[in-house]
Amino acid sequence: MAEKKLPEWDLSEYYKGVDDPQIDADIRIYSEKARAFAEKYRGRVARLEAEEFLQALHELEDMNRLASKLGGYAGLNSSTHLTDPQASALYQKVVESLNEAGKDLLFFGLEYNKLDAKAEEKLLSNDKIRFYLPYLRRVRKYKPYELSEEVEKTLLEKDVTSGSAWVRLYEEYMARLTYTVDGKKYNDAQISRLCLSPDAELREKSGKEINNVSRENSFAVTYIYNMIMKDKAVEDEKRGFKLPMSARNLAEEVSDETVNNLAETVRDNYKNIAWRFYKIKSRLLGVDKIKYWDRNAPLPIEDDKEYSWEEAVKTVLDAYKDFSPKLYDIAREFFDKPWIDVAPKEGKRSGAFCSGPQTEEHPFLLLNFVGKRTDVLTLAHELGHGCHHQLRRENGVLNETTRMTTEEVASVFGEMLVFQSMLNRATSDKEKIALLAMKVNDMINTAIRQIAFHFFETRAHDERRLGEVSAERLNQIWLEEMRESLGPWVEVDENSACIWEQVGHFFFLPFYVYAYSFADCVVNSLYWQKLQNNVDNFADKYLELLSKTAIGKYDEIFAPFGLNPGSKEFWQGGLNLIGYYLDQLEELVDKL
Ligand SMILES: [Zn+2]
Repeated sequence: MAEKKLPEWDLSEYYKGVDDPQIDADIRIYSEKARAFAEKYRGRVARLEAEEFLQALHELEDMNRLASKLGGYAGLNSSTHLTDPQASALYQKVVESLNEAGKDLLFFGLEYNKLDAKAEEKLLSNDKIRFYLPYLRRVRKYKPYELSEEVEKTLLEKDVTSGSAWVRLYEEYMARLTYTVDGKKYNDAQISRLCLSPDAELREKSGKEINNVSRENSFAVTYIYNMIMKDKAVEDEKRGFKLPMSARNLAEEVSDETVNNLAETVRDNYKNIAWRFYKIKSRLLGVDKIKYWDRNAPLPIEDDKEYSWEEAVKTVLDAYKDFSPKLYDIAREFFDKPWIDVAPKEGKRSGAFCSGPQTEEHPFLLLNFVGKRTDVLTLAHELGHGCHHQLRRENGVLNETTRMTTEEVASVFGEMLVFQSMLNRATSDKEKIALLAMKVNDMINTAIRQIAFHFFETRAHDERRLGEVSAERLNQIWLEEMRESLGPWVEVDENSACIWEQVGHFFFLPFYVYAYSFADCVVNSLYWQKLQNNVDNFADKYLELLSKTAIGKYDEIFAPFGLNPGSKEFWQGGLNLIGYYLDQLEELVDKL
């Protein structure tokens, strides 16, 4: 790697530093504005005339901008100063004061939902108010499920000792577990990394140890899981949600039927995608059957191509430019300005992210670039998020939101562009095999595995309705779902029966796992249309889609691509893309 210092971001456009006096001044201004807002509008929202209602929306926007600036700065700054107590103290202070002041604003949505349909229609006939339709629709969708203010408040207060308490106990309990391999102690992140070691014996010891530790803690974790499921069931029933997944689906703005279509289509493809892949992987690893923990094991033909930062940037920008000069122009700005923090350093968060706290301003990218091929793909991914943000700046502070199901479109699509160009330029069969196997492995982990998780939690919650579910029963459901999705070339036995305890999403965000598959299949479905040249002006329509992911309805935003997320064909299209890469992989391995 080059000796030259890699680019760093510059947050001074927010604040000059953690001791900038403007921070305290802004916190004060925010609290004062929130208090004044409540005094002015509480108890009156349902009776406001258009003019005043619009004024209230503008005030909300203003406060939102200030809160995003404060929270954004504190969060971004702390992500590169994890060991600096001043940075974390500032973060804590900002979060707490924003939360406290934010309570003054809760009434607005609740009161808005007291408006009857006719009064709402009258407000929305004003064009300036209609601009806020995506936001107001989002507030409104909870109306049928809201309880009286008294009950809502009680639920909120009791949550600290019920739902949230169990989640917190789970997280803190799991974080304290230690895993021992060859006499050495590891935490959960470390032991997970050992499962990716090129040493098969080490992988086996680590895989078994994760399961053993989970089994030793089955009593506590099963108890916690039963409480979380029951707590959710009680609230769901009071609110009138039909299925255990319905509350999550409402938040993600998808119908129960769409999620069922997705899940069933994926299950119909277990055999021709996941099973087939693991068969190829077992051949590449030279075994009859791979072990459960070997699913993500590196291949003996892994490629170790290295990139300098300049080469990485060029690789990514070239691929973006090939696809769309407009997208390229948006992307290039990130490298002309101090918006990316590139290199790993002391006290910096691991991994990568794109964060744009302020809707109307550009986002920042955090990387930990060391020049591996995956780092280049990560850059492509985060840059996709960055461009996605830039295309949404005009949508309005209140209208914009992050919807997981479409939030990953631009990032995964950006990664696909770069992956495809790497594949096109690969010079040897071995390099192609390494690339394809890596990609298909990732795609299966996201699109298929998460649906197996979804079936696990669906069955667990269904059985919980009849009473507490034992650890043995949960293990059994887990094993059945794993066997069905992984197929005959993966060994699934008692040595992986308790791994469900390790899937944090089951505990802290029930029914969230399908969103990963949803997002991946959406992108794959789009990319499949592009590969097939099925859509005229694909690139322009794609940029248009990105600008609307949070403010448009699913069927509307995908219509220009001839796609309908309500249909099974939509999801099948996404899975076909995995099959397409799998065909290429199989052909190359046969030749080997
Ligand atoms: Zn992402």
